[in-house]
Amino acid sequence: MKKTYSGTCHCGAVRFEADIDLGAGTFKCNCPICTKTRMWGAIVRPEDFRLLRGEDRLKDYQPDGVHHVFCTNCGVRPYGWGEESSGGKFYAVRLACLDDVEDEELAGAPVTYSDGRNDRYDERPSETRHL
Ligand SMILES: [Zn+2]
Repeated sequence: MKKTYSGTCHCGAVRFEADIDLGAGTFKCNCPICTKTRMWGAIVRPEDFRLLRGEDRLKDYQPDGVHHVFCTNCGVRPYGWGEESSGGKFYAVRLACLDDVEDEELAGAPVTYSDGRNDRYDERPSETRHL
């Protein structure tokens, strides 16, 4: 069931809300940017994502077609966004930036792993324990 969560970067300049069903699945990936930024995310549709403040503080880093935005004050990446090949916009909300999620909710959320390092996003990497 979807629940509305509030999220911020570290300094609070960027604030958002997202309606997420954590039980429907989260993702981790071993591609270079997910590895270096410790990505653990949930995919959210545009109608379920609201940027409340801080758009002017965000810098857009776009190495791979996805907009990996980060706060220019504190450096934290609250979310990313992109367009699927089918044309739909999506947001990838970083669960680490949710302020009102319970530890138990995160611990119980199923995780799908992607082998992005080998460009096999539909497959699970052989090792996932460190992700
Ligand atoms: Zn910040």
